[in-house]
Amino acid sequence: MQAKALDARALAALAANPGCRRRAILDGAGVDKGALASALGSPSVFGQSQFAFVRGNAFEAKVKADGGTELLRLAHEKLDRAAEPPTEARVPDLTAQGPQGRTARTELALREAATEAPGAWTLLDHPMLALDVAGSPAFLEPDAVVVHPDGSWTVVEIKSFPMLDGAADPSKVGAAARQSAVYVLALEQVAARLDPAPRVRHRILLVCPKDFSNLPTASAVDVRKQRAVTARQLDRLTRIEEIADTLPEGTCFSPELPAEELTEAVETVPAAYAPECLSACELAFHCRDRSRADGAVTSLGRPVRAELGGLTTVEDVLAAARGEAGDPDDPAVAALRRAAALRAEALSGARPEVAPCP
Ligand code: SF4
Repeated sequence: MQAKALDARALAALAANPGCRRRAILDGAGVDKGALASALGSPSVFGQSQFAFVRGNAFEAKVKADGGTELLRLAHEKLDRAAEPPTEARVPDLTAQGPQGRTARTELALREAATEAPGAWTLLDHPMLALDVAGSPAFLEPDAVVVHPDGSWTVVEIKSFPMLDGAADPSKVGAAARQSAVYVLALEQVAARLDPAPRVRHRILLVCPKDFSNLPTASAVDVRKQRAVTARQLDRLTRIEEIADTLPEGTCFSPELPAEELTEAVETVPAAYAPECLSACELAFHCRDRSRADGAVTSLGRPVRAELGGLTTVEDVLAAARGEAGDPDDPAVAALRRAAALRAEALSGARPEVAPCP
């Protein structure tokens, strides 16, 4: 089975849960987690419908038609009004063999934009960028990168969700910003190899259909915060080799293995399930079932987990609330006992003796 390449969406999700070793090793090994989830008996409902995929491709083709005339007009209008309008733009051919070849071709095109066409607008359609992730290269393909006349670079993200009256669904814009932040980090690595290093803009161009039409409109999205968070989280990822070294000899995650064998292999790597996984990872249903079966409080959400301090299972929490376990000076234990007493009062109508909160 062919290894599945990490894309920016997967990287943004990985960075959002840096404590999950399971996801890190599966992504690092290029395992198709959708196929794996099905083989484990917990298929994911994650991903884009075929209809949305076709509609998205059609919209992107429209945005980039005529050598990207409309796209560059939007880049000029939203990001660089002081520059000359893009009457004629360069659109270099980026075709090459394999991801490494395409990455090298993209880097060459970016160099040439600075040396051969200073002061011109250049549009890179589906460039390929490489980013080192926990010791393994990830190849990323933004929708486009624009080189401005001043030599700076902008990431362009084209989405098919609508922008109504100039604003789009904040959760979708947030996801697009996190994805773009990954491209910005990869572009910064390319820029650092050039002399002088071009500026990578931290405001990306988000292009969406206007209202309920299929006419493109755009807004500049500041991704500084997402860039900083993603960079920090990617730095925190445990190196893939370190995780691999802890696995039993011969561990294999091929979705073609029998479910029982596969479950055993997956369970050898610790996970860090949280409800947020449901919108970010194909294995969410499998990990949620395991987390619930273990009685882990993380399945109740990170805020609840944080409130409970050292109590990590539902069993521990109930024992602490009943006064059977736990240190009464622990604020979490004291709060649980108080809540249990108030609950008993509400159910019985009696007035219990409740200790004040510490
Ligand atoms: S669903 Fe499982 S593997 Fe995926 S990030 Fe969450 S805990 Fe990790």
